[in-house]
Amino acid sequence: MYDIIIIGAGPAGMTAAIYARRAEKNVLVLEAKSYGGQIVSTPEIENYPAAPHISGFDFATKVYEQAVALGAEFKFEKVTGITDGAVKTVTTSKGSYEGRTVIIATGSECRRLGLPEEGKLVGRGISYCATCDGGFFRKKTVAVVGGGNTALEDALYLSGLAQTVYVIHRRDAFRGDSSTSAKLSAKENVKLVLNSRVTGLEHGDKLTGIEVTDNSGAVSHLDVDGLFIAVGRTPENEPFAGVIELDDAGYIKASENCRTSAAGIFVAGDNRTKEVRQLVTAASDGAVAAGEAIKYLEDN
Ligand code: NAP
Repeated sequence: MYDIIIIGAGPAGMTAAIYARRAEKNVLVLEAKSYGGQIVSTPEIENYPAAPHISGFDFATKVYEQAVALGAEFKFEKVTGITDGAVKTVTTSKGSYEGRTVIIATGSECRRLGLPEEGKLVGRGISYCATCDGGFFRKKTVAVVGGGNTALEDALYLSGLAQTVYVIHRRDAFRGDSSTSAKLSAKENVKLVLNSRVTGLEHGDKLTGIEVTDNSGAVSHLDVDGLFIAVGRTPENEPFAGVIELDDAGYIKASENCRTSAAGIFVAGDNRTKEVRQLVTAASDGAVAAGEAIKYLEDN
């Protein structure tokens, strides 16, 4: 029996593990993939206090090592369900674990454009991770679709590798930080394609080009070797839907205290209802959720 089972080893979950271990609770962290979550795909973090330049992978590795050094136990298993009660049971692809409290910190997954053949072309020209796959496109032509911080940072990173980077966004203003978009606009090999959407994929075995439709309905074509899709994320909360309340978009309903509708189950990070989804707010949620779980353990 664990004091606290944490589902998800991103910045929120691993911060929760650090706080819980410092309070000497026994902690299990369950993660379906590898540690780090979404942040490992960020080429460079520039807005985390006291770390003005650090790669997402290095950041995640430091947090993971800190949690392990403090004694948090990690198991890499996909969580498939949870049952509520005085003791909570978390079921995974490999077994089940009992905990007195649970912190759900599963984050979110990449949203797809929903184009025909999009799934089949992943790894054949389509990618959702510039730092993972950018190296395959040295001196080639790529497009990034999206207008948030992920798209802008991906495009900046790719501009250092690829010959030409198109940035395709459905509006005329970016959602991401103005400082990053200014850096991008200054790059000679970056071409902005605004008020436009990717509406088709051209390919043989691999992606060869994309169809682009602007907001007036005019259709054009771009030859590209790679398409990096960065159009936001959706929360990974399906295994918990029957147990705790979600909002219409699938986020776990919670306020700043990270409590869910079920006593003893807490949520931390991007998969909860909140205004600001940033690395620093994910880490903050981890600390708050761990604090709430510790209080719950003392009171029950
Ligand atoms: P996001 O901020 O939600 O931006 C998604 C972008 O994709 C928006 O520009 C949106 O257009 C566009 N979009 C959505 N659906 C689309 C579709 N079907 N077709 C075409 N375009 C579509 O997502 P994100 O960039 O992944 O960022 C997620 C969160 O992480 C944000 O809070 C972001 O600030 C944060 N983040 C922070 C950092 C950092 O702190 N260094 C790095 C990366 C991300 P509209 O603008 O028209 O809605």
